[in-house]
Amino acid sequence: MSGLSDISYDNRTVLVTGGSGFLGSWMCETLLHKGAEVICLDNYASGRPENTEHLKNHPKFTRIVHDISKPYDPGRAVDLVCHLASRASPLEFEHYPIQILKSNTLGTMNALGIARKYEARFFFTSTSEIYGEAAIFPTPETYRGNVNTLGIRGCYDEAKRAGEAFCMAYFRQHGLDVRIARIFNTYGPRMRSDGHYGRVVPRFFDQAMHNEPITIFGDGTQTRSFCYVTDQITGLLRLAGLPGLKGEVVNIGNPVEYTILDLAKMIIDLTGSSSQLSYHPMPPDDPTRRVPDITKAREKLGWEPKVDIRDGLMMMKESNSGSVHRS
Ligand code: UDP
Repeated sequence: MSGLSDISYDNRTVLVTGGSGFLGSWMCETLLHKGAEVICLDNYASGRPENTEHLKNHPKFTRIVHDISKPYDPGRAVDLVCHLASRASPLEFEHYPIQILKSNTLGTMNALGIARKYEARFFFTSTSEIYGEAAIFPTPETYRGNVNTLGIRGCYDEAKRAGEAFCMAYFRQHGLDVRIARIFNTYGPRMRSDGHYGRVVPRFFDQAMHNEPITIFGDGTQTRSFCYVTDQITGLLRLAGLPGLKGEVVNIGNPVEYTILDLAKMIIDLTGSSSQLSYHPMPPDDPTRRVPDITKAREKLGWEPKVDIRDGLMMMKESNSGSVHRS
């Protein structure tokens, strides 16, 4: 299979919840590029209007401010519903646990209801977090997870697990064509670095570019596998767009694993920063290792990431997104 050009979204109407978030905005943009008509729903809880500002005058793009945890009817036929809406940063879990639970339970139910009403396909963005403190590496889709339901990450992990169960219920009971992506750590331009929203890559960039201490949680030996956003979107749109994947769940992520210390050093090096490392307590339940088994994505989607982390970080640096979003 060649590039994303092998899947056409021409003449298809796609509803994207969380369409002005980091991944949502890239998804809307790519879908428009591929010929789709796009309805972007966002309540701007963590998404930002500026992420889709450049699309707002596109003739096939509509932006609607709405919280999908409340019912919504587009009032027109849609072919595909992509449910991305959710806060996703661990630093937000402490402050907005109820919203997070609602977007992935009530929100998933409401979004599934739209797909059912208009006989559309349904695409849910789940997460590697459903594996919790995993015991198998690289982690395959068949691993059932090890999550602390009562812990600080429980609101996100369990909400996404419930979201998956909602999808499978609609698949089994109503025959809906659902697909579930388990997204592993992704980075790129438009990812927020500010306040509670900041994930590790933009936070380290922001700190490095201001020559401030790089905040390492724990001893920095925990690992993550970082996927560049365009690779991620290519994988997601393959899973959402290819025929014959009804009821499938697929890991989408980069299988190359780095420690957080490796990441910090790469970013310091790339930015020529004089930042020093500063060590802070490890947040509770922060997974020790995270790396996807992408065998299924390779087989079913003909997909694997192409962008090396140093190239991806360089593109992020050039987009200046490590420094522009300070609150
Ligand atoms: N992390 C860190 N310093 C920070 C932010 C994050 O050391 O300022 C670590 C965090 O403890 C975790 C990893 O980086 O082990 C990835 O964190 P992120 O917030 O991106 O999300 P996660 O992968 O935990 O969902």
